[in-house]
Amino acid sequence: MPEFRLLLLTTQKRVCTLCHTRITASQIEETSAIQIDHNPRIHTIKVELWDSLLKEAGILNIQSDADLDKEALNAFIQSPFDWEKCKFRVLSKTRYFIVHIDCNKQDAQVVKAVSAKERKILKNSMLPALYNKYLEMSKILTKKLRSTYKLSSDQYASIFNIKSS
Ligand SMILES: [Zn+2]
Repeated sequence: MPEFRLLLLTTQKRVCTLCHTRITASQIEETSAIQIDHNPRIHTIKVELWDSLLKEAGILNIQSDADLDKEALNAFIQSPFDWEKCKFRVLSKTRYFIVHIDCNKQDAQVVKAVSAKERKILKNSMLPALYNKYLEMSKILTKKLRSTYKLSSDQYASIFNIKSS
């Protein structure tokens, strides 16, 4: 079992955060029974980051062509998404935990439908070049969030028995 999973299991006292029942020893052994999940949901993280990137680039008002700063827009579209620059603000708000895969599947069904609807709205509200940029960020974020694991300060504190700041 990878170390990060063990740390998470310790912080949550081996209880699934979705169904609140204990994760058994055999479930821990069996990698197909449990998985790492996180809060907020991936779609929420993406939309929040996207909004803040647009704001920083000075192109937040994307619904009105008249208000759009074309130069700022082109600069934004042409610069590649920089994960290193966004890493801290994303990870500092993301909390990882362990859940039963079956519990997560039920949850994911509901979330999936909502995200698909929101993604459609997002697509229709943006210029195609901007939406492609969103997809570029989205792809990188998905990959990074699934490979960059960290404990939150209170999780860290609960393992090492120190006061969370
Ligand atoms: Zn569960």
